[in-house]
Amino acid sequence: MNSEELFKISKNIIPGGVNSPVRAFEPYPFFVKEAKGSHILDIDGNDYVDHCLAYGPILLGHSDEDVMNDVYNQMQIGTAYGAPSENELKLAQEVIDRVPCAEMVRFVNSGTEATMAAIRLARGFTGKNKIVKFEGAYHGAHDYVLVKSGSGAACLPDSAGIPESTTQNTLSVPFNDVEALTQLIKEEGENIACIIVEPVMGNIGCVEPTVKYLKFLREITEENGIVLIFDEVITGFRLSHGGAQEYYGIKPDLVTFAKVLGGGFPIGAYAGRKEIMELIAPNGPVYQAGTFSGNPISIQAGLSTLKKLDYPFYGELSRKGDLLRNNISDIVEDLKLDLQVVGLSSMFQIYFNPDTVLNYEIAKRSDVKRFLVYFRDLLKNGVFIPPSQFECNFISGAHSEEDLIKTSEAIENALKLAWDL
Ligand code: PMP
Repeated sequence: MNSEELFKISKNIIPGGVNSPVRAFEPYPFFVKEAKGSHILDIDGNDYVDHCLAYGPILLGHSDEDVMNDVYNQMQIGTAYGAPSENELKLAQEVIDRVPCAEMVRFVNSGTEATMAAIRLARGFTGKNKIVKFEGAYHGAHDYVLVKSGSGAACLPDSAGIPESTTQNTLSVPFNDVEALTQLIKEEGENIACIIVEPVMGNIGCVEPTVKYLKFLREITEENGIVLIFDEVITGFRLSHGGAQEYYGIKPDLVTFAKVLGGGFPIGAYAGRKEIMELIAPNGPVYQAGTFSGNPISIQAGLSTLKKLDYPFYGELSRKGDLLRNNISDIVEDLKLDLQVVGLSSMFQIYFNPDTVLNYEIAKRSDVKRFLVYFRDLLKNGVFIPPSQFECNFISGAHSEEDLIKTSEAIENALKLAWDL
């Protein structure tokens, strides 16, 4: 059977035919046969340079041999224990050694779980109920953060099935806007438990903080007794050895991880100041638990992955990222297109937008119709990126210069088609 036929069947037995909404694109998604290094192959015989990379977990490339060997060995001695094992300590110590704010670590199974637990912990620590997120930021699919901005700063549920009473304590402001947050804190500061922020907004494309914005967040939260949470589910172990907080030199109180930390296997984690982390059960009154938390397979994959992610690796990854972004910028300039080529290190995106994108409001003005023409043409020419203007594209350590040249050429073609040039 081919992808089209499988998708038809799938739609009858799996809602929307997929197990996570973004995977369903028109007319049908390709079904994967295998993935290795920088490439992903579908069952229809197509081979793509992969810049989706499972939406972020794959940083060494698919099925890295060293990681797979270690995981295989771990599988021979058990896949779930329900009791502690030494590797959990080793991975926790590795996180603590790398990440400036991490003094203690708790492992969970996904980014969603990590942000849910970190927010509960911040509320438990401060005794306050309200939380602040940024417009357009994604922190997982749980009720507190699956919101759209409502009138004023209070948020409305962004999904059926979430009571308004659940989101009335979630406030939101535009990213990179000092005034809006200052005003909100003036009005609500004493009720706010935490501010949760993606240091680089990777779920509206790729938006970097303006110079000093993260410093401003650090200062205003400190002054007002608010817990600052960096959601580094995307940026963690990706932007640098110690994540965005090392990259930008700002230390939050708590941090959440997932994706890269599991080396291609399901994981999540939250970490931070000992004084706060000590409140988690069974030590303290903030409950959080999970059957698969600290799962030995994921922990081994994480350990083996981080072992390979040393400073030279990040240097080389950034060099490749710069090479690709420079190529794309040259193409955009030659074609005289008014677009924004954005990104840093292994993250990149093109905004089909004439304005510099600083926040969600501006990102939303992008030409998504043209973006979809571009996406489909890339796919036709063997390059896979996420099917949305509001996702980030990635490169891995396994991408060769040849891959990046192929990607650049496909991008040139696709831009010409999208603009009818
Ligand atoms: N936070 C951020 C910043 C994310 O990008 C994501 C997932 N894209 C999540 C949280 C949720 O992670 P998960 O899908 O592992 O639950």
